[in-house]
Parts: sequence; structure tokens; C-alpha cells
Amino acid sequence: MSELTITDQRLKPIAEKVLAGERLSMEDGIALYRSPDLLAVGWLANHVREKRHGNITYYNVNRHINPTNVCVAACRLCAFGRKKDTAGAYTMALEEAFQTASSGYTEAVTEFHIVGGLHPDLPFQYFLDLVSGLKERFPQVHMKAFTMVEVAYLAKRAKLTIRQTLEKMKEAGVDSLPGGGAEIFADRVRHIICDHKIDGDQWLDTAKLAHQIGLKSNATMLYGHVENDEDRVDHLLKLRALQDETSGFQTFIPLAFHPDNTPLQHLPKTTGILDIRQIAVSRLVLDNFPHVKSYWQMMTAKIAQISLRFGADDMDGTVIEEKIYHDAGATTPQGMRREELERLIRAAGREPIERDTLYRPVTRTETSVTVAV
Ligand code: SF4
Repeated sequence: MSELTITDQRLKPIAEKVLAGERLSMEDGIALYRSPDLLAVGWLANHVREKRHGNITYYNVNRHINPTNVCVAACRLCAFGRKKDTAGAYTMALEEAFQTASSGYTEAVTEFHIVGGLHPDLPFQYFLDLVSGLKERFPQVHMKAFTMVEVAYLAKRAKLTIRQTLEKMKEAGVDSLPGGGAEIFADRVRHIICDHKIDGDQWLDTAKLAHQIGLKSNATMLYGHVENDEDRVDHLLKLRALQDETSGFQTFIPLAFHPDNTPLQHLPKTTGILDIRQIAVSRLVLDNFPHVKSYWQMMTAKIAQISLRFGADDMDGTVIEEKIYHDAGATTPQGMRREELERLIRAAGREPIERDTLYRPVTRTETSVTVAV
């Protein structure tokens, strides 16, 4: 690793803390967002990343399934949700969802990533049947399903507590939660971008209950809209505090806001510099999160590749069919083959390792897929 050169003197005490393995404060986080010395910020994030993961970069072979885009909420951040009976609204019959799950690339997937809208009429049983039906047909595949927002909405509709709802989901076959819907926890921001969603504390409480019943989750953050640096650091610190309590988070995934076709489309798109900085600051502040992901679909494969030198150790997966960010103008392909993910990772000087959802290495031969347990 090259020597650390710092041109921004304000970073010196932060660098000392990072090198000593000490925890960063709110002020440190804000200074990292505001420092013009992005290379020093990146050097420090890379130092932490290499200490944890060496040269390895993870990816997985997964498939997204979005059973419905019908949604009662009208989040201003969203181009995916539709009101019932409007143009473009769809809801998959269960058989259609099972069919979708098996379509796409011929390689065996190890994960289904299942999220969708808050449908006003679909009963909770539909979602349980969806998961149990998929589990029956694809017993080897990990079910990473439902955002905290969906869990809270389904609990309300089924008149169950959040814990009961999560327990029923787990019984049906949910193995972990993807961690979406976190957006930015600050109320001021939530009122503008997603007024009808659960608030930040409810998101965190739902995650906590999931972790308590043995379901791991990820955590996301949507950045690059109306939030400020304090809101971003506040979001990271709240996640870090919950992780201290539960150790239930696996991966932090910063998601760049895509404004096209949303009511916020007057806002500019994020820049490559912000995307890379976001990865680096996340790696430095979230000292208790095992993984930070540069999700190639959201930040483009090229920026995700560079991020592997700025703190990220995971690029996500093959995806196969991405709908949510493509409705919002994402220009990336809808999926990527395993070979291409490996090529991108190698070109960044990293060693690709295919993982399952729980970060166990996957070995493939022509006829079998094995997960090391
Ligand atoms: S972000 Fe989710 S909850 Fe909000 S409108 Fe879109 S699909 Fe519905």
C-alpha cells in the first residue's frame, strides 16, 4: 500500500484515530464529507477495508423479483410505485412469480432478492405463499426478502405485531432482509422524500426485532437528494449504534439517488466524486459493519470498480432483472454475468470471490454449486 499523504490538515487527527482503530465522531464524519483531500479519505478507507478483507472482493449470483409495483405510498423519491389500475401497474400471480424466478441466466442463483410496493389489497398470505412456494421449488436458494417498510405495512394490514409478522415470514422461508427503505433517517428529509413511509425509529426498531429473532439484514442509505452532511452522518451513527446492540447487520449499501421520472426530477444526479466519497466515509464511520457494498447497478460498473480502492469490498451480483432504479432512469444494464463481474474485479487489482448471502464462499463446477459452511 502507498504512503498516506495528507494535504488537508483537518484530516490529521482523524487519520490518527483510524490508524489507532478508534471510533469516529459526528464531527469527524462531517469533516470527511467536506474535506477536499478525497485521496487521503480514500487511503484511510482502503486501509480499513484491506485490514478486514485483504484483497478480496465479493460478488454473488442472485436474481431480483419484484412481485408488484402497486403501492399506496407516493414517495417523491420513487419512480417504481404505481397506483392500482393505472398505466404500468402490475401484480404477479404466484405462478408468474415462480416462473420469473426460474427465468434469465442459466447459472444457478444462490439468492432471491424480493422487494415490491405496498399493495392495498394483496393479503399477507400472498407474500407467505410466495416465499414458501419459492422455497419449495428452489430449496438451495437464500430468500432475502422484504424491506423494513414492507414488513411494517404487512404487519398493519394483517393486524399483527412486527415481531409476529417477522416470525411468520421466517417460518415461511425468509432467510434474511435486504435493508431497503432506510433512505435518510432524519425527519426533515423523510417529510420531503417519503412522507408516508415509517419513520427512521420505526425502521430501526423493525431491524432490531428481525435481528433478535435471528434474521440478518443489510442496511441502505439513499443519498444525493435533499439531505445534508449532518443528515448523512446521523444516519450512519444510528446504524452503528444499533449494530453495537444486535450485530445483525451484514452489509451497508449506499444508494445513489436517481431522480428521473420522480417528482424530484429537477434535482441533479449524484457525481462520481460523491459516490466514491460516500463509500469511503461509510467504511470509516461504520467500524462495526463487516461489509460495504458498491452496488454497480446504482453507481455504474466503472464507479463501483474504483470504489473497490476506496473502502468497498462487495459489488453485489448478477441481478438479472432490475426494475426499481431503471424506472428512475438508471442507464446500467439490467443484469451482469458472473464472468463480467469477475473481470471488473480483477481489473481493479482485486481477487473476486463468489459468496452466498451470508458471505460463505461458493464453488461451482459444470454440474454443481457448493456453498462452504
Ligand atoms: S419507494 Fe417503495 S413505498 Fe415508496 S412509493 Fe416507491 S414502492 Fe412505494
